[in-house]
Amino acid sequence: MTGEAAAANVRTQHIRWPVTIAVPQQACGWRDSAKQPVRLFKASSPWQASQIRGVVRLLLLNLLDRLLSNYYWAWHDDAMAVFRALPTFAGNPYDAVRRLTSEQHERLEEGDLPALAQAAVDSMDTYVAAAAPERRVAYFSAEFGIHESLPLYSGGLGVLAGDHLKSASDLNVPLVGVGLVYRRGYFHQTIDDQGMQHEEYPEMHPLEHGFRPALDPQGRPAQVSVPLDSREVKVRVWRTDVGRVPLFLLDTDLDENAADDRFITSHLYGGDRELRVRQEIVLGIGGLRALRELGYEALDTFHLNEGHAAFMCLEAICECRRFEEHFEVSRARAAGRVVFTTHTPVPAGHDVFPPEMIAGYLGHYAETEIHCSVDDLLSLGASRSGGPAFSMTELALHVSRSANGVSTRHGEVSRAMFPGRPIDSITNGVHHLTWCAPATVRLYDDYLNGWRTNPRLLVEAHTLPDGDLAAAHRANKLRMIEQLNEMLPDPLDPDLLTIGFARRFATYKRAGLLFHDPDRLTDIGAGKVQLVVAGKAHPQDEAGKRLIQEVIRLGKVTPVKAVFIPDYDLGLGKLLTSGVDVWLNNPRRPLEASGTSGMKASLNGVPNLSVLDGWWVEGYDGTNGWAIGGEASPTDPATEDARDADSLYRLLAERVLPEYYDSPLAWLQRMRRAIVSSARFTTHRMVEEYARRVYHQ
Ligand SMILES: *Cc1c(COP(=O)(O)O)cnc(C)c1O
Repeated sequence: MTGEAAAANVRTQHIRWPVTIAVPQQACGWRDSAKQPVRLFKASSPWQASQIRGVVRLLLLNLLDRLLSNYYWAWHDDAMAVFRALPTFAGNPYDAVRRLTSEQHERLEEGDLPALAQAAVDSMDTYVAAAAPERRVAYFSAEFGIHESLPLYSGGLGVLAGDHLKSASDLNVPLVGVGLVYRRGYFHQTIDDQGMQHEEYPEMHPLEHGFRPALDPQGRPAQVSVPLDSREVKVRVWRTDVGRVPLFLLDTDLDENAADDRFITSHLYGGDRELRVRQEIVLGIGGLRALRELGYEALDTFHLNEGHAAFMCLEAICECRRFEEHFEVSRARAAGRVVFTTHTPVPAGHDVFPPEMIAGYLGHYAETEIHCSVDDLLSLGASRSGGPAFSMTELALHVSRSANGVSTRHGEVSRAMFPGRPIDSITNGVHHLTWCAPATVRLYDDYLNGWRTNPRLLVEAHTLPDGDLAAAHRANKLRMIEQLNEMLPDPLDPDLLTIGFARRFATYKRAGLLFHDPDRLTDIGAGKVQLVVAGKAHPQDEAGKRLIQEVIRLGKVTPVKAVFIPDYDLGLGKLLTSGVDVWLNNPRRPLEASGTSGMKASLNGVPNLSVLDGWWVEGYDGTNGWAIGGEASPTDPATEDARDADSLYRLLAERVLPEYYDSPLAWLQRMRRAIVSSARFTTHRMVEEYARRVYHQ
């Protein structure tokens, strides 16, 4: 007998029979009026106990399965607590359940896991049962950032889409999401000794992320085909749920497809323009066809999150043409159903294709299905600037009933980019329950009763007591530093003012601005400031990669401590935006459309030190952070860099550092002001605005 078995034997001998075992109430479908998640059963012998335990284990596995079928857990801590309680948990609930060994399985029913799991499933069921019966809005996006374990996003656009679904779910806006399933999505970043970024694409399988085949009304797995050139590509549809919102993800990796076509939905970063246009055809045309196949007939609004999905407009026209309307009448009718959000003033962010390419892929479709000429189709996306080009943004603007940018400033910039188009603005936000760190959640639970369902109550943050606010931030900071120090040879110091900067390494974000004058930075900050930097460069953006290298080099040679943390993702984003003391953002004006990471920081009481661009034009009020470079208008890049760097250094030396070290009460007041202003920058406010102003729900 092994030592362990002997010990178990001794334990058994000392047990007094009968013993009581907690059984989740889902067995035989009991529902106690007292809402007890478990019932207690008496076992009067070891044999009986092992029988009951076996049943409990099966029930428990079933409960875990239920929880995994919906991303509800991504923002509900009672559900997440169930996975955290598993011995295998390391951040990803699916992996945690999959990795349970048979010995771990056999002990699963011990302790309070059955009760926790049953209670979480009950809450989830109650939440989901309140869903509006009929879905009326379809939200198309090439990316969805729902949780760090699901790499279907690559930056702000995807994170916003994930937050949009969560708030739509919480607010019961009758929405469905449509996207692509990337087997090789957001890459993992590693940095070598030379500071070079390397990308590694983990393989993901939909079944391992809680997805299941989406079923048509007859209960068959839905499949549609999409025109590509003169062939048809088969597309299957996966389903997962984000609370009350179903999310459908399209997949071309099917035996019936040619090898090339199977690859279409494989990479989030498509290799070339050809792959990109194919992906967008699958998303737009395939997306609408899939919704019809799935039986969604009551949809009256199609929201295009960025131009990537704008081919959906063609299929919408196609549907109208079945009634043999005139082409222009069909266009207008289709436009009446589409709403469009544009996300960036950076020209490279707007997809443009050569007209011949579009004619090649969709000419046959135009003639045989839309019943229009290729020229008619091309005119829908004709770019009005530069040479002949088919612009997805123009297509979306031309076939939509409303268009908006993502901040007031971005709305102005977009109107200037697309003259004559009525482009409004709805300012972005963040999903508060996703982005508040655990200590922040506890603080708000204690003092801002009701904030979980109504985050507008964050305007009451002036009531937060100094001591508790300071303690919550300290906990967030220590949590961050503890985790980061595990990977740093030279640890961060929790007593230094810590500045965070994490964003995609596109050159316009000017990640190196703080190092503009290394000597001046040293004079101001040596021994007083430490900087935490993170961010990925697009795999094909050599300039972005060189910038990472340069920032790492400068961080090493400058006496001000600066560390680069690889592999920025949702998880690291949560850690940094809540754990640093100041959130830095210094893009070149007016290229920051919104900048949601700053909202995440503000929500956690971390003041922004930012250029007045994107959301900060609306967010900054003189008391909740600092504005770099004032209201200055854009100028030539070198002048702008010099001027903003000077402003940044002055702010640090004259305002930020003295307040942090010498006026802790003023600092806490600034944190409170940051929280108060974050009340306006939630996706709850944003989705309400979409529902009222553009969905007309
Ligand atoms: C929030 C977030 C973004 C977007 O933030 P910006 O302020 O627009 O840079 C990008 N990536 C990740 C991982 C995020 O969490």
